[in-house]
Amino acid sequence: MPKDFLKDARDRYDVIVIGAGLGGLTAANVLGRAGYSVLLLEQHYKLGGLATWFKRPGGHIFDISLHGFPVGMIKSCRRYWNREIADRIVQLKYIRFDNPMFSLTTTYDRDDFSQLLVERFGIAAETVQQFFDTARGMNFYDDQKLTVGQLFERFFPGRDDVVRLLMEPIVYANGSTLEDPAITYGIVFSNFMSKGVYIFEGGTDRLVQLMHQELLRNGVDVRIRCNVEKILVEHGQVSGVQVNGRTIGTRAVISNANLRSTIFRMVGERNFDPAFLDEARAVRLNTSSTQVYMALKPGEQIDESTGDLLFSSTAREFRTDLLLSRDITSRTFSFYYPRMRPHAEPRYAIVSSTNARYEDWANLPAEEYEARKQDLIETTLDALEKYVPNCRERIAHLEAATPQTFEHYTRHLAGASFGTKFEGLAISRALPEQIGGLYHAGSVGIIMSGWLGAINYGVIVANDIDARLMSASAPSAPQPAEAP
Ligand SMILES: Cc1cc2nc3c(=O)[nH]c(=O)nc-3n(C[C@H](O)[C@H](O)[C@H](O)COP(=O)(O)OP(=O)(O)OC[C@H]3O[C@@H](n4cnc5c(N)ncnc54)[C@H](O)[C@@H]3O)c2cc1C
Repeated sequence: MPKDFLKDARDRYDVIVIGAGLGGLTAANVLGRAGYSVLLLEQHYKLGGLATWFKRPGGHIFDISLHGFPVGMIKSCRRYWNREIADRIVQLKYIRFDNPMFSLTTTYDRDDFSQLLVERFGIAAETVQQFFDTARGMNFYDDQKLTVGQLFERFFPGRDDVVRLLMEPIVYANGSTLEDPAITYGIVFSNFMSKGVYIFEGGTDRLVQLMHQELLRNGVDVRIRCNVEKILVEHGQVSGVQVNGRTIGTRAVISNANLRSTIFRMVGERNFDPAFLDEARAVRLNTSSTQVYMALKPGEQIDESTGDLLFSSTAREFRTDLLLSRDITSRTFSFYYPRMRPHAEPRYAIVSSTNARYEDWANLPAEEYEARKQDLIETTLDALEKYVPNCRERIAHLEAATPQTFEHYTRHLAGASFGTKFEGLAISRALPEQIGGLYHAGSVGIIMSGWLGAINYGVIVANDIDARLMSASAPSAPQPAEAP
C-alpha cells in the first residue's frame, strides 16, 4: 500500500497553503502563530521550494539559491520567524567583479559603491548621490513607464562600464533587463545597497530545518508529497482543495505555486472574468537558470580572497541578452568556505549560476540534452580555472542543473527562477477580487521575488487573510509587514 501522506489530516482548516517555498512557509507560520488552523501542502519531499539544497556522498552539500540577499532579511526573520534564524544571518565580505571593463572587490554597500563610482569611474559625487537618492525614493506608485535603461541614460549617459557595475548583480539577482520598469530596479538595488549582501550561516538545510521546527511549534500541519490538483470554488468562494485523492475544506487558500499554474491549472478558467483571464494570459514568465555544482576534494582549499560572490564575464560589452545566451559569457560564482557550515565536515564548494532560456533546453533528444549539459560543465571549468587554478584535478564532485531541473522540482512553468515579470504582481493581488478567499504569495514582479521578497509577500498575504477571517472568535492579528 502506498504511504498516506495525509494520514490523520483533518477534513477542514481555516487556511490551506499550497507550496512550501519561502512565501508559503512564512504565510503559514504567521497564520499558525496567530492561532488559525493551517494546513501546508508541498508536492516535493522537501520544504523550501527554490530555497533548497542537495547532498552527495563524501560530505558535499550544495545550496541552490543561497548566494546573497539584502540586510532586510534579518528584521523579517526576527519578526516572522525567530531570533535563532535571524542571528545566523551574516554579511558577505568579498563581492568581486571581473570582466573586460573592470576588475574590483567591494563590500557592496552605498559608501563603498559611492567611493568606487567617484574615484575609480570618475563620476561626480553629486551625480552619484542623486542617483542613489532617486533609486531609493522610488516606490510602487511611481511612473512605471521609465525603463531601467532610461534611468541609467539620465544619470550616466554613454557609460556602459557604470551600467555594468550597477546592473550586473541585479540582473543575476532577479532576471531583470534594461527594458523593465525602472521602479523594479530601484527598489531591489536600494534594498541590496543599504548595507551590503548577506547569507544564512549554516546553509539552506539548517534554515529550512529551523523553519520546520517553528511551524510545528505554531501548530501548522505540515505535509510533504502532497500535490494539490485542484482548488475548489463554490458560489465565487474557495471551498477546499483536492489533494492525493482527498477533498479538504477551507475558508481561504494561499497558493505559493506559480501564478499562471494557479489560475489556469488549479482553479480553471471558468471561475474567472474573461477580462481578468486576458490579463493573466499576458503575464510573462521570468527566465530560468543553469547551475554547475562543484565540490573540492577533502584537504583542498581556496583562499577566501577569491571572493564570496564573483560576477565574472568575458563579454567585452554589457548586454542583457548576452546574459541569457546559451553561449555563456557571464557566470556568477558563489564560493562556500567551511565557515558556511561550521557544524559539518570542512568542505569547499563552488556553485556557478547563469540566467538561461527554457527554450534552449526543452524538447531536446536525450543525447543532445546530455551533451549540452556536459558542455556547460566543461566551459564552466574553463572559466573557473582563472580563479581556482588546476580546478579539474582538485574537484571531487561535479554536476549541472538546467531549466528542466528547476521545472521538475518546483513545477514552475518553464523552470522560471523568479516567477513572473512585473505585470504578475497586479494579477496576483487581484485574485481575491475574483474568487473570495483565494490568494497568491510567490515570486512575481521582481520586487516580490528572491528570498526577502518572497518572505515579505507571504507576510502581506497572511495579513490580508487575517483581515478576512477575523471575527469575534478570531485570535490576535499578525504584525504588519515591512515593505520588501
Ligand atoms: C538558481 C537560482 C538562484 C537564486 N539565487 C537567489 C539569491 O541568491 N538570492 C535570493 O534572494 N533569491 C535567489 N533566488 C530566488 C529565490 O530562491 C526565489 O525567488 C524564492 O525562493 C521563491 O520563493 P517562493 O515563495 O516564490 O516559492 P518557490 O520557491 O518557488 O516554491 C514554490 C513551492 O510550491 C510547490 N508547489 C508548486 N505546485 C504545487 C502543487 N500543485 N501542490 C503542492 N505544492 C506545489 C513547489 O514544489 C515549491 O516548493 C534564486 C533562484 C534560483 C532558481
